[in-house]
Amino acid sequence: MSGALLGFVIGGFFGPHWKANDWPFFIQFLALLGEVFMNLLRMLVVPFVITSMILGMTSMGRQGRVGRLLGVTFTYYMVTTILAVILGIVVVLVVDPGGRYAVPGGTAGVVHAEQLLWYEALFKTVRSLFPDNIFQAAAQGQILGLITFSLIFGAILRRLGERGEMLVRVIDVVNDVLMTFVHGVIWLAPLGILGLVATKTGAAGGFSSVISDLRALSLYAITVLAGLGVHAVIVLPAILWGVARRNPIQHLRHFSEAVVTAFSTASSAATIPVTTANALDKAGFGKSNAQFVLPLGATINMDGTALYEAVAVIFIASTFGIKLGITQIVVVALTATLAAIGAAAIPHAGLVTMVMVFAAADVPPDIANKGIAMILTIDWILDRFRTAVNVWGDTVGLAVVERLGSVGSDGESSD
Ligand code: ASP
Repeated sequence: MSGALLGFVIGGFFGPHWKANDWPFFIQFLALLGEVFMNLLRMLVVPFVITSMILGMTSMGRQGRVGRLLGVTFTYYMVTTILAVILGIVVVLVVDPGGRYAVPGGTAGVVHAEQLLWYEALFKTVRSLFPDNIFQAAAQGQILGLITFSLIFGAILRRLGERGEMLVRVIDVVNDVLMTFVHGVIWLAPLGILGLVATKTGAAGGFSSVISDLRALSLYAITVLAGLGVHAVIVLPAILWGVARRNPIQHLRHFSEAVVTAFSTASSAATIPVTTANALDKAGFGKSNAQFVLPLGATINMDGTALYEAVAVIFIASTFGIKLGITQIVVVALTATLAAIGAAAIPHAGLVTMVMVFAAADVPPDIANKGIAMILTIDWILDRFRTAVNVWGDTVGLAVVERLGSVGSDGESSD
């Protein structure tokens, strides 16, 4: 947290004095710290997700609780994502930021994302579950494909019984080694986070530019942040308290490193190792639950992204004078949920999958493109908040699964 604040202050004050491509030594050094931290996290993600999901699957089978665990996990993902979308829609309709901005003129914006109908986008997500080459999927950070492969691999390994036991042990050792690696990276986190936040804030032009960008779209930014705030501070803690029977403040303390890392990297995927380390070391969750629920949640459970997409689409439509009817709003709610599931857990992914929500709500593509270009200037800020909410939601999901999804006690993965 202190790294992020210090980085914001350094970037905010000194950013306006840095010339593009000619940063002073100290700033280049900070940028290096940020990059090394980010790369270490990314370097860990692929082997970590594969070994975690295989172990999650093999240990789950041993305790005979696959169906129940899957049921609780997916019910939680769907319910919280839909709650987030409904909340976003209510907030944007009440505040109505769209009616207060001038329609931007000029050409059709700088973003030309693929125009997909909702079912085409759904099919695209299903296709990404089954990559033709897992090495290519790993190289391109397509976590969803790796998860499918690891789940199938784990399910078959489990059925091999004693013969598979040796391999399970080896994978468990590899996972333990990676976990120790993660602890080293977490130790470096304050410096890495300082570097990431300082250079990002500085490159955006420092405090004055950030404030003027935010001011230009102030009501829109406030609407998104208010929705995310209510979801993170009221809805999710209520579930944590009421369903998982955990103290939300203590839970936040346990996962503070994960939430700050999500904020600094704007990537739920890069945060997976930190979230898992917090779950095991600080919160004391069962290893097999954490190994299964956290990578899966980071990839498909994105409450912040779903809320954000619903708000942005309704805001943009209203800015361009399009009043969406009740049917279109229901369509926005459903497709924003799908779009969040399909969004990759990397920076700005939500902005790309938003195109499908526009298409489903019958907003013309040139308006969608102009609108996306309009909100692009502040997406790097809002992305950080929604990623932090995405990861916070994953940790609450783990607590719910730990309480409702386990049959008997859980505590170890594979021995
Ligand atoms: N950056 C987000 C994440 O990694 C996805 C998004 O752009 O909304 O969770």
